[in-house]
Amino acid sequence: MDKTQFLDIIGKYTYDKANGTYNYQYCPICGAYERLKIDDSGGWLCDCTGGEKKTLLDLKQEFLKKYPARKDVAELIVEKETPTSFINMGEIQRQENIRVISTGFETIDNMTGGFQSGSLFVITGKRGEGKSTFAGQLALNAVEQGKKVCFYSGELSSFMFQNWIYTQAAGNNNVESVPDVLGMPRWQVKPEAANKIASWLDGKLWLYDNRYAEANNKSNVIKGLKKAKVELGCELFFVDNLMTAYAGNDGERDFYRAQSKFVIELVNFASEYNVCVVLIAHPKKSYTDDINDNVSGSADITNLASVVIGVRRSTSADITSETDAILTIGKNRLYGTTGAVGLCYDSTCRQLSEQGKKPSGYSW
Ligand SMILES: [Zn+2]
Repeated sequence: MDKTQFLDIIGKYTYDKANGTYNYQYCPICGAYERLKIDDSGGWLCDCTGGEKKTLLDLKQEFLKKYPARKDVAELIVEKETPTSFINMGEIQRQENIRVISTGFETIDNMTGGFQSGSLFVITGKRGEGKSTFAGQLALNAVEQGKKVCFYSGELSSFMFQNWIYTQAAGNNNVESVPDVLGMPRWQVKPEAANKIASWLDGKLWLYDNRYAEANNKSNVIKGLKKAKVELGCELFFVDNLMTAYAGNDGERDFYRAQSKFVIELVNFASEYNVCVVLIAHPKKSYTDDINDNVSGSADITNLASVVIGVRRSTSADITSETDAILTIGKNRLYGTTGAVGLCYDSTCRQLSEQGKKPSGYSW
Protein backbone atom coordinates (compact mmCIF):
# COMPACT_ATOMS: atom_id res chain seq x y z
CA MET A 1 0.00 0.00 0.00
CA ASP A 2 1.13 3.50 -0.64
CA LYS A 3 0.93 4.63 2.94
CA THR A 4 1.43 8.27 2.06
CA GLN A 5 -1.66 8.37 -0.11
CA PHE A 6 -3.69 6.47 2.45
CA LEU A 7 -2.53 8.96 5.04
CA ASP A 8 -3.71 11.93 3.01
CA ILE A 9 -7.23 10.63 3.07
CA ILE A 10 -7.64 9.05 6.49
CA GLY A 11 -5.41 11.19 8.64
CA LYS A 12 -2.02 11.62 10.20
CA TYR A 13 0.40 8.88 11.15
CA THR A 14 3.85 8.44 12.60
CA TYR A 15 6.32 5.80 11.58
CA ASP A 16 7.68 3.73 14.45
CA LYS A 17 11.09 2.73 13.19
CA ALA A 18 11.85 0.30 16.01
CA ASN A 19 8.72 -1.78 15.42
CA GLY A 20 8.33 -1.13 11.72
CA THR A 21 4.76 0.09 12.15
CA TYR A 22 2.77 3.02 10.86
CA ASN A 23 0.77 4.33 13.80
CA TYR A 24 -2.34 6.18 12.67
CA GLN A 25 -3.98 8.93 14.64
CA TYR A 26 -7.49 7.70 13.92
CA CYS A 27 -8.79 4.32 12.81
CA PRO A 28 -11.11 4.71 9.80
CA ILE A 29 -13.04 1.62 10.88
CA CYS A 30 -13.78 2.21 14.57
CA GLY A 31 -12.58 5.77 15.05
CA ALA A 32 -10.27 4.82 17.95
CA TYR A 33 -7.54 7.34 18.69
CA GLU A 34 -3.92 6.21 18.18
CA ARG A 35 -4.79 2.51 18.07
CA LEU A 36 -4.47 1.57 14.39
CA LYS A 37 -1.07 0.16 13.50
CA ILE A 38 -0.12 -1.17 10.10
CA ASP A 39 3.15 -3.02 9.90
CA ASP A 40 5.63 -3.54 7.11
CA SER A 41 4.56 -7.13 6.56
CA GLY A 42 1.02 -6.02 5.70
CA GLY A 43 -0.79 -6.74 8.96
CA TRP A 44 -2.93 -4.33 10.92
CA LEU A 45 -3.91 -4.17 14.53
CA CYS A 46 -6.47 -1.97 16.29
CA ASP A 47 -9.08 -2.11 19.06
CA CYS A 48 -11.57 -3.17 16.39
CA THR A 49 -9.54 -6.25 15.40
CA GLY A 50 -10.00 -7.57 18.94
CA GLY A 51 -6.28 -7.81 19.59
CA GLU A 52 -5.74 -10.00 16.57
CA LYS A 53 -3.59 -9.08 13.65
CA LYS A 54 -5.64 -8.96 10.46
CA THR A 55 -4.62 -8.77 6.83
CA LEU A 56 -4.83 -5.68 4.68
CA LEU A 57 -7.46 -7.48 2.61
CA ASP A 58 -9.67 -7.50 5.71
CA LEU A 59 -8.98 -3.81 6.24
CA LYS A 60 -9.92 -3.13 2.64
CA GLN A 61 -13.20 -5.03 2.99
CA GLU A 62 -14.11 -3.33 6.24
CA PHE A 63 -13.20 0.05 4.84
CA LEU A 64 -15.47 -0.56 1.83
CA LYS A 65 -18.29 -1.62 4.10
CA LYS A 66 -18.01 1.63 6.01
CA TYR A 67 -17.25 3.92 3.09
CA PRO A 68 -18.86 2.31 0.06
CA ALA A 69 -18.38 5.50 -1.95
CA ARG A 70 -14.61 5.60 -1.37
CA LYS A 71 -13.48 2.77 -3.63
CA ASP A 72 -10.61 5.04 -4.67
CA VAL A 73 -9.20 4.98 -1.14
CA ALA A 74 -9.91 1.28 -0.65
CA GLU A 75 -7.91 0.52 -3.79
CA LEU A 76 -4.83 1.93 -2.06
CA ILE A 77 -5.11 -0.75 0.59
CA VAL A 78 -3.68 -3.76 -1.14
CA GLU A 79 -1.83 -6.85 -0.07
CA LYS A 80 1.90 -6.48 -0.12
CA GLU A 81 3.40 -8.22 -3.10
CA THR A 82 4.99 -11.52 -2.16
CA PRO A 83 8.61 -11.64 -3.26
CA THR A 84 9.29 -14.26 -5.91
CA SER A 85 12.04 -16.67 -5.05
CA PHE A 86 13.17 -20.13 -6.06
CA ILE A 87 14.37 -23.13 -4.13
CA ASN A 88 17.19 -25.21 -5.56
CA MET A 89 16.01 -28.81 -5.72
CA GLY A 90 19.62 -29.91 -5.75
CA GLU A 91 19.86 -28.86 -2.12
CA ILE A 92 18.35 -31.22 0.40
CA GLN A 93 15.50 -29.51 2.28
CA ARG A 94 14.54 -30.79 5.68
CA GLN A 95 11.02 -30.50 6.95
CA GLU A 96 11.68 -29.03 10.33
CA ASN A 97 9.67 -29.12 13.43
CA ILE A 98 6.91 -31.53 12.31
CA ARG A 99 5.35 -33.32 15.23
CA VAL A 100 3.43 -36.53 14.72
CA ILE A 101 0.79 -38.09 16.95
CA SER A 102 -0.32 -41.64 16.26
CA THR A 103 -4.02 -42.12 15.55
CA GLY A 104 -3.82 -45.34 17.58
CA PHE A 105 -5.08 -47.32 14.58
CA GLU A 106 -2.20 -49.08 12.84
CA THR A 107 -3.72 -49.16 9.37
CA ILE A 108 -4.73 -45.50 9.51
CA ASP A 109 -1.23 -44.56 10.70
CA ASN A 110 0.25 -46.56 7.83
CA MET A 111 -1.96 -44.83 5.31
CA THR A 112 -1.80 -41.28 6.63
CA GLY A 113 1.41 -41.07 8.63
CA GLY A 114 -0.61 -40.07 11.72
CA PHE A 115 -1.62 -36.60 12.85
CA GLN A 116 1.09 -34.31 11.56
CA SER A 117 1.39 -30.85 12.99
CA GLY A 118 0.36 -28.14 10.58
CA SER A 119 -2.34 -30.23 8.95
CA LEU A 120 -6.14 -30.40 8.92
CA PHE A 121 -7.93 -33.74 9.05
CA VAL A 122 -11.62 -33.85 8.14
CA ILE A 123 -13.85 -36.63 9.43
CA THR A 124 -17.17 -36.92 7.71
CA GLY A 125 -20.12 -39.27 7.97
CA LYS A 126 -23.86 -39.24 8.45
CA ARG A 127 -25.44 -38.49 11.81
CA GLY A 128 -25.29 -41.51 14.12
CA GLU A 129 -22.71 -43.36 12.03
CA GLY A 130 -19.91 -43.00 14.56
CA LYS A 131 -17.95 -39.86 13.67
CA SER A 132 -17.94 -38.51 17.22
CA THR A 133 -17.24 -41.93 18.74
CA PHE A 134 -14.26 -42.28 16.43
CA ALA A 135 -13.09 -38.75 17.27
CA GLY A 136 -13.38 -39.39 21.00
CA GLN A 137 -11.23 -42.47 20.70
CA LEU A 138 -8.62 -40.61 18.63
CA ALA A 139 -8.48 -38.01 21.41
CA LEU A 140 -7.92 -40.70 24.06
CA ASN A 141 -5.27 -42.36 21.90
CA ALA A 142 -3.37 -39.07 21.87
CA VAL A 143 -3.70 -38.73 25.65
CA GLU A 144 -2.27 -42.26 25.92
CA GLN A 145 0.83 -40.89 24.16
CA GLY A 146 1.09 -38.14 26.77
CA LYS A 147 -0.25 -35.46 24.43
CA LYS A 148 -2.55 -32.65 25.46
CA VAL A 149 -5.80 -32.48 23.55
CA CYS A 150 -8.48 -29.81 23.20
CA PHE A 151 -11.97 -30.87 22.18
CA TYR A 152 -14.76 -28.59 21.01
CA SER A 153 -18.13 -30.30 21.10
CA GLY A 154 -21.05 -28.27 19.86
CA GLU A 155 -23.63 -30.92 20.59
CA LEU A 156 -22.81 -32.44 23.96
CA SER A 157 -22.95 -30.82 27.37
CA SER A 158 -19.79 -31.14 29.45
CA PHE A 159 -21.53 -33.78 31.58
CA MET A 160 -22.54 -35.87 28.58
CA PHE A 161 -19.11 -35.51 27.01
CA GLN A 162 -17.39 -36.63 30.19
CA ASN A 163 -19.71 -39.59 30.56
CA TRP A 164 -19.06 -40.67 27.00
CA ILE A 165 -15.28 -40.20 27.10
CA TYR A 166 -14.94 -42.02 30.46
CA THR A 167 -16.87 -44.99 29.06
CA GLN A 168 -14.53 -45.15 26.09
CA ALA A 169 -11.46 -44.83 28.30
CA ALA A 170 -12.75 -47.53 30.67
CA GLY A 171 -13.00 -50.37 28.14
CA ASN A 172 -15.55 -53.17 28.42
CA ASN A 173 -14.02 -54.75 31.55
CA ASN A 174 -14.59 -51.65 33.61
CA VAL A 175 -18.20 -50.80 32.88
CA GLU A 176 -21.22 -52.19 34.67
CA SER A 177 -24.89 -52.25 33.83
CA VAL A 178 -26.81 -49.95 36.16
CA PRO A 179 -30.56 -49.27 35.90
CA ASP A 180 -31.38 -45.63 35.18
CA VAL A 181 -34.30 -43.68 36.72
CA LEU A 182 -36.72 -45.47 34.39
CA GLY A 183 -35.27 -48.86 35.27
CA MET A 184 -33.54 -49.28 31.92
CA PRO A 185 -30.06 -50.85 32.04
CA ARG A 186 -27.28 -48.40 31.17
CA TRP A 187 -23.55 -49.00 30.93
CA GLN A 188 -21.67 -47.04 33.55
CA VAL A 189 -18.00 -46.81 34.44
CA LYS A 190 -17.20 -48.58 37.71
CA PRO A 191 -16.43 -45.93 40.38
CA GLU A 192 -12.88 -47.15 41.13
CA ALA A 193 -12.06 -47.02 37.41
CA ALA A 194 -13.64 -43.57 37.07
CA ASN A 195 -11.29 -42.19 39.72
CA LYS A 196 -8.24 -43.57 37.97
CA ILE A 197 -9.43 -42.27 34.60
CA ALA A 198 -9.94 -38.85 36.17
CA SER A 199 -6.32 -38.62 37.27
CA TRP A 200 -5.13 -40.05 33.95
CA LEU A 201 -7.03 -37.36 32.02
CA ASP A 202 -6.16 -34.57 34.46
CA GLY A 203 -4.62 -31.67 32.55
CA LYS A 204 -4.48 -33.73 29.35
CA LEU A 205 -7.95 -33.57 27.83
CA TRP A 206 -9.61 -30.16 27.76
CA LEU A 207 -13.17 -29.56 26.67
CA TYR A 208 -13.88 -26.16 25.16
CA ASP A 209 -16.46 -24.62 27.47
CA ASN A 210 -19.67 -23.98 25.57
CA ARG A 211 -21.70 -22.50 28.38
CA TYR A 212 -21.08 -18.95 27.29
CA ALA A 213 -23.54 -17.72 24.74
CA GLU A 214 -20.83 -16.29 22.55
CA ALA A 215 -18.84 -19.50 22.33
CA ASN A 216 -20.39 -20.72 19.11
CA ASN A 217 -19.05 -17.84 17.17
CA LYS A 218 -16.40 -18.29 14.55
CA SER A 219 -13.77 -15.94 15.91
CA ASN A 220 -14.38 -17.03 19.50
CA VAL A 221 -13.86 -20.70 18.66
CA ILE A 222 -10.57 -19.92 16.90
CA LYS A 223 -9.51 -17.65 19.75
CA GLY A 224 -10.32 -20.44 22.19
CA LEU A 225 -8.20 -22.94 20.26
CA LYS A 226 -5.27 -20.53 20.23
CA LYS A 227 -5.64 -20.07 23.98
CA ALA A 228 -5.63 -23.84 24.48
CA LYS A 229 -2.34 -24.05 22.59
CA VAL A 230 -0.65 -21.09 24.28
CA GLU A 231 -1.94 -21.52 27.83
CA LEU A 232 -2.55 -25.26 28.10
CA GLY A 233 -0.02 -26.64 25.61
CA CYS A 234 -2.56 -28.62 23.56
CA GLU A 235 -1.20 -30.15 20.35
CA LEU A 236 -4.22 -31.91 18.88
CA PHE A 237 -7.57 -30.15 18.40
CA PHE A 238 -10.98 -31.57 17.64
CA VAL A 239 -13.78 -29.39 16.32
CA ASP A 240 -17.04 -31.36 16.53
CA ASN A 241 -18.60 -30.14 14.36
CA LEU A 242 -18.39 -27.56 11.61
CA MET A 243 -22.09 -26.67 11.70
CA THR A 244 -22.10 -25.92 15.42
CA ALA A 245 -18.66 -24.32 15.51
CA TYR A 246 -19.65 -22.05 12.71
CA ALA A 247 -23.36 -21.45 12.72
CA GLY A 248 -22.85 -18.16 10.93
CA ASN A 249 -23.19 -14.58 11.98
CA ASP A 250 -26.28 -12.45 11.59
CA GLY A 251 -26.76 -10.94 8.20
CA GLU A 252 -24.18 -13.15 6.55
CA ARG A 253 -24.69 -12.83 2.84
CA ASP A 254 -22.91 -15.91 1.67
CA PHE A 255 -23.02 -18.62 4.31
CA TYR A 256 -20.94 -21.25 2.50
CA ARG A 257 -18.27 -18.77 1.61
CA ALA A 258 -18.10 -17.67 5.22
CA GLN A 259 -17.94 -21.28 6.33
CA SER A 260 -15.00 -21.99 4.04
CA LYS A 261 -13.36 -18.88 5.43
CA PHE A 262 -13.71 -20.42 8.88
CA VAL A 263 -12.04 -23.61 7.63
CA ILE A 264 -9.24 -21.50 6.13
CA GLU A 265 -8.79 -19.94 9.56
CA LEU A 266 -8.53 -23.46 11.04
CA VAL A 267 -5.87 -24.36 8.45
CA ASN A 268 -3.97 -21.16 9.24
CA PHE A 269 -4.21 -21.89 12.95
CA ALA A 270 -2.82 -25.41 12.39
CA SER A 271 0.09 -24.11 10.38
CA GLU A 272 0.91 -21.00 12.43
CA TYR A 273 0.72 -22.81 15.76
CA ASN A 274 2.22 -26.06 14.41
CA VAL A 275 -0.64 -28.24 15.65
CA CYS A 276 -3.03 -30.70 14.05
CA VAL A 277 -6.74 -29.91 13.77
CA VAL A 278 -9.40 -32.59 13.27
CA LEU A 279 -12.65 -31.15 11.94
CA ILE A 280 -15.84 -33.19 12.03
CA ALA A 281 -18.24 -32.25 9.24
CA HIS A 282 -21.65 -33.53 8.26
CA PRO A 283 -22.07 -34.86 4.77
CA LYS A 284 -24.39 -33.36 2.19
CA LYS A 285 -27.88 -34.76 1.98
CA SER A 286 -27.25 -36.31 -1.40
CA TYR A 287 -24.59 -38.86 -0.58
CA THR A 288 -22.31 -39.99 -3.40
CA ASP A 289 -19.53 -42.56 -3.54
CA ASP A 290 -16.79 -39.96 -3.50
CA ILE A 291 -16.48 -38.97 0.15
CA ASN A 292 -14.57 -35.82 -0.79
CA ASP A 293 -17.68 -34.47 -2.48
CA ASN A 294 -19.85 -35.39 0.45
CA VAL A 295 -18.82 -32.79 2.97
CA SER A 296 -21.61 -30.31 3.39
CA GLY A 297 -20.88 -26.80 2.29
CA SER A 298 -18.39 -25.67 -0.23
CA ALA A 299 -16.01 -28.09 -1.95
CA ASP A 300 -13.27 -25.90 -0.49
CA ILE A 301 -13.52 -27.71 2.80
CA THR A 302 -12.14 -30.97 1.49
CA ASN A 303 -9.73 -29.09 -0.76
CA LEU A 304 -8.26 -27.45 2.32
CA ALA A 305 -7.87 -30.70 4.25
CA SER A 306 -4.72 -32.82 4.21
CA VAL A 307 -6.65 -35.98 4.94
CA VAL A 308 -10.37 -36.74 4.60
CA ILE A 309 -11.75 -39.76 6.47
CA GLY A 310 -15.30 -41.01 5.92
CA VAL A 311 -17.02 -43.01 8.68
CA ARG A 312 -20.09 -45.13 8.11
CA ARG A 313 -21.77 -48.24 9.42
CA SER A 314 -21.14 -51.48 7.58
CA THR A 315 -23.93 -52.79 5.40
CA SER A 316 -24.63 -56.27 4.07
CA ALA A 317 -23.15 -55.08 0.77
CA ASP A 318 -19.68 -54.78 2.32
CA ILE A 319 -17.28 -57.63 1.64
CA THR A 320 -16.06 -57.63 5.23
CA SER A 321 -19.48 -58.20 6.71
CA GLU A 322 -18.11 -59.05 10.17
CA THR A 323 -17.12 -55.44 10.74
CA ASP A 324 -19.44 -52.82 12.19
CA ALA A 325 -18.00 -49.71 10.62
CA ILE A 326 -16.01 -48.76 7.55
CA LEU A 327 -13.48 -45.97 7.49
CA THR A 328 -12.56 -44.62 4.10
CA ILE A 329 -9.48 -42.50 3.52
CA GLY A 330 -10.82 -40.52 0.58
CA LYS A 331 -8.11 -37.92 0.33
CA ASN A 332 -4.56 -38.03 1.53
CA ARG A 333 -2.37 -35.12 0.56
CA LEU A 334 0.38 -36.29 2.90
CA TYR A 335 1.02 -39.74 1.43
CA GLY A 336 -1.40 -40.19 -1.43
CA THR A 337 -2.67 -43.52 -0.08
CA THR A 338 -6.43 -43.95 -0.08
CA GLY A 339 -8.52 -47.00 0.82
CA ALA A 340 -10.84 -48.49 3.38
CA VAL A 341 -10.45 -50.07 6.84
CA GLY A 342 -13.06 -52.26 8.55
CA LEU A 343 -13.59 -51.64 12.26
CA CYS A 344 -15.42 -53.54 14.98
CA TYR A 345 -17.52 -51.71 17.54
CA ASP A 346 -18.01 -52.65 21.19
CA SER A 347 -21.26 -51.00 22.25
CA THR A 348 -20.68 -51.47 25.99
CA CYS A 349 -17.66 -49.15 26.02
CA ARG A 350 -18.12 -47.45 22.63
CA GLN A 351 -14.69 -48.51 21.44
CA LEU A 352 -13.74 -49.15 17.84
CA SER A 353 -10.96 -51.56 16.95
CA GLU A 354 -9.44 -52.80 13.75
CA GLN A 355 -10.75 -56.10 12.55
CA GLY A 356 -8.87 -58.96 14.19
CA LYS A 357 -7.13 -56.66 16.66
CA LYS A 358 -7.87 -56.00 20.30
CA PRO A 359 -9.19 -52.54 21.21
CA SER A 360 -6.39 -50.31 22.45
CA GLY A 361 -6.38 -50.39 26.24
CA TYR A 362 -5.42 -47.27 28.13
CA SER A 363 -2.74 -47.15 30.79
CA TRP A 364 -4.72 -45.39 33.55
ZN1 LIG B 1 -10.14 0.42 14.67
